[in-house]
Amino acid sequence: MNSWSSVDIPALVTGGELPALRLSDTASQSVKAVEKKAAYRMYVCGITPYDSTHLGHAATYLTFDLINRYLRASGSTVNYVQNITDIDDPLLERAIRDGVDWKDLAHQQIDLFRGDMVALRVIPPAHYIGAVEAIPLVVEAVNALASQESIYPVDSDLYFAVNKDPQFGKRSHLSTKEMTTIFSERGGDPSRAGKQSPLDCLVWMSQRPNEPGWESSLGVGRPGWHIECTAIALKYLAPLDTEVTLIDIQGGGSDLIFPHHEMCAAQAHVMTGKELAGSYVHTGMIGLDGEKMSKSKGNLVFVSRLVAAGVDPMAIRWALMSTHYRVDRMWSDDVLSKAQNEISVVEKALKMSDVAPTAQLVQQIAEAISNDLDTPAAIAAVLSWSQETMNGSNGGDVTQLRNTLDALLGLTL
Ligand code: ZN
Repeated sequence: MNSWSSVDIPALVTGGELPALRLSDTASQSVKAVEKKAAYRMYVCGITPYDSTHLGHAATYLTFDLINRYLRASGSTVNYVQNITDIDDPLLERAIRDGVDWKDLAHQQIDLFRGDMVALRVIPPAHYIGAVEAIPLVVEAVNALASQESIYPVDSDLYFAVNKDPQFGKRSHLSTKEMTTIFSERGGDPSRAGKQSPLDCLVWMSQRPNEPGWESSLGVGRPGWHIECTAIALKYLAPLDTEVTLIDIQGGGSDLIFPHHEMCAAQAHVMTGKELAGSYVHTGMIGLDGEKMSKSKGNLVFVSRLVAAGVDPMAIRWALMSTHYRVDRMWSDDVLSKAQNEISVVEKALKMSDVAPTAQLVQQIAEAISNDLDTPAAIAAVLSWSQETMNGSNGGDVTQLRNTLDALLGLTL
């Protein structure tokens, strides 16, 4: 699958090493220092392309873009991989509802998503892999799990036995009752007859009438969602034997903590004997005007529609960064207009012939981001600098600041 176009990032001049990045890790329930390395491996779960990118998606990919930018600015490389679930129940259901071909629907939504990511200046993944193209990898992964005796059939489908991973449940910290409830709400089938445990997850679904299926040694069918990400991550992030965990960061929205990320980690653990990620990073949910934003409520705010209506994508980026990534928050016209007003103040300051000193501000932005991506603190520092500039303070280097805003925050102002 083609990714979106690349983003030019200016070099960051700070006069010293950047502080080590610390990130909230769901598994250890703590803010952990990310070990300094020359090369990182990051996997972020992608969209199921049946509806345009709403602000919740944008906020998630923006968060991992900040991590990507910070690690790169620290002098490391980041192998960033993202999947796209281009075959799954929700996509087929939507295609039937709208009377369109599921492939056309997926292509159209993937194009919209790519456009949104370009507008928001999100660095593209090095590997952007669709579920359909990953089928051979999924088959390989299911075979690897089968060799650990963790796969069994129910009718002609295949399931992964979660209790084969002694760590199962340790990343998401939920009781069995909570897991069962959430599993059922998020695409799982805890009450299906024939399963060894209600929480076991589908890894290969045999072809159903009027649904697509692909020939494989597992039969004609399609991959389960969780194994898709496990297989893609392990292949394209190429874990090293010398590393303690398979990859450094696995990320997504907080609605992926369970079952999705727990299942991926359990499968990877059974396959390799190693923990999947050093840090499991999750972003908060975004609501609209006091209500949860969801497809079923029909109150999604789409990035593409805001941009088509003339909203500067940088204002969307700024608005999304004005609250900490882990916090569930509300979107409203007021949030956007506050961001637009703040940006216009900063732009005015950046155009002054003399600007307030910038070296300390660059340091403050780097420190804020290193502290579990504290974007509200970074934004507050930029606003305070703008005020000082408007008040006549001088001696700063505006190019240094522009480069920092771009390199670390993805803002071109
Ligand atoms: Zn995933």
